[in-house]
Amino acid sequence: RTAPLLAGAAGDVEVSFEFFPPRSDAALETLLATASGLASLGPRFVSVTYGAGGSTRGRTQEAVLGIARETGLNAAAHLTCVGASRAEVDAIADQYWHDGVRHIVALRGDMPEQDQPYAPHAEGYANAAALVAGLKRLHPFEVSVAAYPEAHPDSTDMAADLDNLWRKVDAGADRALTQFFFSADTFFRFRDLAAARGIDVEIVPGILPVANVAQLRRFAGTCGAAIPPAIDRVLEGLDERPAARQLVAATIAAELCGALYAGGVRQFHFYTLNRAELTYAICHLLGLRPAPATAEQKAVLTAA
Ligand code: FAD
Repeated sequence: RTAPLLAGAAGDVEVSFEFFPPRSDAALETLLATASGLASLGPRFVSVTYGAGGSTRGRTQEAVLGIARETGLNAAAHLTCVGASRAEVDAIADQYWHDGVRHIVALRGDMPEQDQPYAPHAEGYANAAALVAGLKRLHPFEVSVAAYPEAHPDSTDMAADLDNLWRKVDAGADRALTQFFFSADTFFRFRDLAAARGIDVEIVPGILPVANVAQLRRFAGTCGAAIPPAIDRVLEGLDERPAARQLVAATIAAELCGALYAGGVRQFHFYTLNRAELTYAICHLLGLRPAPATAEQKAVLTAA
């Protein structure tokens, strides 16, 4: 049997890339270089996360604007409503609109201390659905939201979580990006349930190429994503062998993307962890090749 990826994937996919904000000026330069390297693959958008409780506000803004300036890509800003008043959140969104950013990934966020149950700010947006409605009232932003193929840990069950996703879409969300997962069947089940619930926006699988096994186990535990035993076994013992780990991580992600592709998925959102090569390799396997720069990108490069 020929591997579905190599047999089937013809580059007819759309990708997006997620980065986290740099912690220093030097890291910003590295991030801009990483984003420029991946820009040649023609992502339809890239996004920059927002640190817990808005801790990276300035750095997120700097990275979003820097990437847009250096690459000419549609750069989206993640924005959370935890721990902030509506006025504070609206002021940040207004600034983004003023700076030319047209796409927000709207999230609730988590409390600063782990295991603390979520409580909205007294004058804040209550949850992501309320934030989406607030953003859409402010400006005609393109808005993406989060979705959870294995249900969010705070939800009572999948039906309640799907009701919540439906409310976010009803409030105006244009697309849902999923939490990472490791089984294609998990995604397909979720996609079917969402369709049955009347959720009609695109649901884009979030793909996490594994960079650090120990960290992944901790993170998967807190966000409710299951690592299938076979994958856990295959990752065991690789944290001291970065080159081998890269190869194995690429294989795992490529298998997942291949299975998703075979099941009809044509859009992928990559958690790049600010590293270009692993994501680039998987996109290459999906059939993507560097595109000639667009007129807009050429203008940006000439001006730089
Ligand atoms: P919501 O959609 O508001 O929902 C969270 C939970 O609360 C759900 O279980 C929902 O069912 C329940 N709920 C909400 N409203 C109600 C209601 N009225 N009644 C009953 N139950 C309700 N975090 C960051 O801090 N910064 C980031 O940049 C960031 N980026 C992310 C990107 C993606 C693609 C994903 C998947 C997650 C990201 N997160 C980020 C994490 C996210 O902030 C957390 O998962 C958070 O716990 C939930 O955010 P949400 O937007 O999904 O919340």
